[in-house]
Amino acid sequence: MTNNLKNTRPIVIAGPCSAESRIQVLAIATALKGHAHYFRAGLWKPRTRPNSFEGVGEEGLKWLVDVQKEVGLPVMTEVADAKHVELALKHGLDAVWIGARTTVSPFAVQNIADALKGTGTPVLVKNPMHADLKLWMGAIERVSHSTKGEVYALHRGFSSYGLKKYRNAPMWEVPIGLKAEMPDIQLFCDPSHISGKRELIQSVSQKAMDLGMSGLMLETHHNPSEALSDAAQQLLPSDLIQLLDNLTIRDLNLDLSQTSDIRDLRLKMDSIDEQLVELLSGRMNVARAIGDYKKEHGLTVLQLARWKEIIKTRRVWSEEVGLEEEFLKLVLEQVHKESIRIQTEILNSEH
Ligand code: PEP
Ligand code: MN
Repeated sequence: MTNNLKNTRPIVIAGPCSAESRIQVLAIATALKGHAHYFRAGLWKPRTRPNSFEGVGEEGLKWLVDVQKEVGLPVMTEVADAKHVELALKHGLDAVWIGARTTVSPFAVQNIADALKGTGTPVLVKNPMHADLKLWMGAIERVSHSTKGEVYALHRGFSSYGLKKYRNAPMWEVPIGLKAEMPDIQLFCDPSHISGKRELIQSVSQKAMDLGMSGLMLETHHNPSEALSDAAQQLLPSDLIQLLDNLTIRDLNLDLSQTSDIRDLRLKMDSIDEQLVELLSGRMNVARAIGDYKKEHGLTVLQLARWKEIIKTRRVWSEEVGLEEEFLKLVLEQVHKESIRIQTEILNSEH
């Protein structure tokens, strides 16, 4: 980013998920002035399902130019193809980012890299949707080989089917792995897309700071519940200011450019345990649904034949991955006990 931000941490990029109107963009940017260093707004929105709001497109570029001129904040948007890059450059945007759905495709990234050839525009490369470190590195390399501008890595978490605490599991060991492989690349974090809901954004931002990341990208909207995309994860500008105020920025006693095997392993262990807890909670929700079914159909809670089948199939699975049989049996017994407790509670409840 610009040189005068060299000693600033976190560098704050804030703004709406999507630009919706000139008035909206200017209202948010005005509220963020003095707190954010860059203004973000998506113009071309990659949506999971068709018929969702797909962004205002080219029209929004002049609103971003108005933010530069009238509010005095540098601006950035997401580019997903060469045409977007061409338009962003033509309008003099200050930086661009590549989204997670684009990073998964080396062809798409190469086209963007080619369009950026020789320019000095800074680029933030989000991680791909899934936890593939090499794919993320490859995208950063493609862009770095082409542009003369700074290239940054932007961690936005990883899609994980069925796990629900986060919209995208942080798996902190992946960005740390990237830092170990590419020590010169500065890391940014996007707690909004990791969290998916407002309540988690503070703690995710704090974790990113504790890991020594350089900056945060935080989705901010003047009327979040009415936002045309990502309504549940956008913060009011006043909440963003409070969040930044609440952050504790510690001295970087852990130098991320130094590899530390024990730190990396602990991060990995934390991340696996967090997923284990979520999986266990998911399993209990299924036990609850089965409990409702049993109650409705007058079945007993303990079905012996089913328990025997569980023990048998899980024994085979544990053998396949080399887990001690006795250990697995103990774990399963506790899990089963809790399921039975939940279902007995359901059976004894009034409705
Ligand atoms: C965004 O930043 O609004 C966005 C679409 O993010 P991601 O690519 O991380 O899903
Ligand atoms: Mn978004």
